[in-house]
Amino acid sequence: MYRTHSNGELNASHINTQVTLAGWVQKIRNKGFMIWVDLRDRYGITQLIFDEERTSKEVMEIASQLGREFVIQIDGTVIERESKNPNMPTGDIEILVKNITVLNKSLTPPFTIENETDGGEDLRMKYRYLDIRRKPVRENLVFRHKVTMAVRNYLSEKNFVEVETPYLIKSTPEGARDFVVPSRMNEGQFYALPQSPQTFKQLLMVGGMDKYFQIVKCFRDEDLRADRQPEFTQIDCEMAFVEQEDILNTFEGLTRHLLKEINGVGVSEFPRMTYDEAMRKYGNDKPDIRFGMEFGELNAATQHKDFNVFNQAELVVGIAVPGGNSFTRKEIDALIDWVKRPQIGAMGMVYCRYNEDGSFKSSVDKFYDQEDLQRWAAITGAKPGDLICVLSGEAHKVRSQLSALRMELAQRLGLRDPKVFAPLWVVDFPLLEWDEESQRYHAMHHPFTSPKPGQLELLETDPGAVKANAYDLVLNGNEIGGGSIRIHDKETQSLMFDYLGFTPQEAKAQFGFLMDAFQYGAPPHGGIAFGLDRLVAILGGQETIRDFIAFPKNNAGRDVMIDAPAPIDTAQLEELSLQLKIKD
Ligand code: ASP
Repeated sequence: MYRTHSNGELNASHINTQVTLAGWVQKIRNKGFMIWVDLRDRYGITQLIFDEERTSKEVMEIASQLGREFVIQIDGTVIERESKNPNMPTGDIEILVKNITVLNKSLTPPFTIENETDGGEDLRMKYRYLDIRRKPVRENLVFRHKVTMAVRNYLSEKNFVEVETPYLIKSTPEGARDFVVPSRMNEGQFYALPQSPQTFKQLLMVGGMDKYFQIVKCFRDEDLRADRQPEFTQIDCEMAFVEQEDILNTFEGLTRHLLKEINGVGVSEFPRMTYDEAMRKYGNDKPDIRFGMEFGELNAATQHKDFNVFNQAELVVGIAVPGGNSFTRKEIDALIDWVKRPQIGAMGMVYCRYNEDGSFKSSVDKFYDQEDLQRWAAITGAKPGDLICVLSGEAHKVRSQLSALRMELAQRLGLRDPKVFAPLWVVDFPLLEWDEESQRYHAMHHPFTSPKPGQLELLETDPGAVKANAYDLVLNGNEIGGGSIRIHDKETQSLMFDYLGFTPQEAKAQFGFLMDAFQYGAPPHGGIAFGLDRLVAILGGQETIRDFIAFPKNNAGRDVMIDAPAPIDTAQLEELSLQLKIKD
């Protein structure tokens, strides 16, 4: 037997017990006549003591040659510690070692394997298996497991069935590029890895599964943005015979359950907001509603005052920054520089201080008097002591710029408390989205999303105005899930493909199987998918999803530990009937 106990469980009640322990050497303190070793495993750390007077010479000898991360097994007696450590569950005891076996040696690890490490990100990723020995990383993985178990239990109890769908499939249109896999047996042909199991889960509804879920890997070959992974995990769900309301209620239930079970937080409000309202009030379709700073549209209050910048702008919009009047001139100038950075792209920023005495001082005092500024304050909801920040220009650009500023300021002012959870449904998304590059409309969610009843006709006259039965679940300013009620009849689906620019041949080649299935009694259905990685990170009070993935890829999409992607040899290419042509 390798061990009788783990390294996290022994305490004063075990004193005088004979135990066998195994684990990794975390720390060694060698005083010659006495050696202390911290022995670590997944469950904790136990202090070992080797004492010249009570431990044999041979064992002392072996102990003196131990190095960090050696794997050892020891026999010994639990004894009371002289200097107790109240911060450790095992801090009252130590093990007086009788026998020791070195199970495996270790090279000196490239960084310290303790809660705080000196290892940089790259090094820790290269030796991720060592990083996983560290408590914070290990705990994140255990946390993720808890979340997935809670999801599985909740949905299973609600009669959902977890069904696996294939990974080697044909393109699924979630708006990214596919990762493709060449088929050896079908020369010149390729599988695509699923961007999501979308079409399969719909086919499961046609198959009568009624309630499906799957915790499933999805693959999207996108240009990598910070904290995106080319492979990520979804909690993918679909239900038959449902309307939007049924889906919202079911998954509000799941979210409440997770917040209660995992975070011990009861959520009273679970508000809903239309996409249009979210854009107008927060300039964003995933607003963080833990704090106010709602947009105030100032066009009417700023026109006809000779300030051409505002007169000519499609939108003049401001926010009140709580307590922002305490910002120094220098700090405000830095904010102006911040919004002018290319990543944000604002032309400039007008500001107005709301002094404690009720007076205003703005950067455009030349054009606006106290009465005007009082109106700005009323519209943005500013109070004495606040700072009003105003941006102007093309409506959709200004909204996203002010949204970025709002989030940045909230972060700086500590208004984004990770312990506070504010979920929100954003509903009534537009069905279509204009794509500048291809100069045409694309499905905003995906082409299987149904338009709101009675809106199909609008497609001809005002396509951008058509609203969809599509919804997102937002938590603390992050989209954690999104879904829709689907089209379930062949005619509407062909019309949609036609509208999205597929020729009938293309539609048939890519999605013929789905439209065929719709002809055999497809029930009305709809669903949602949660991004598990992000959900886990947010529930864990953090924002970096990499920290909750055992073996993540870096920002360039590389696994630096196994060094992938990598070239394959010529023989393998030949077998796949592929020829490599590398552009220089
Ligand atoms: N397949 C969709 C996605 O990955 C989710 C859904 O519509 O259920 O975003």
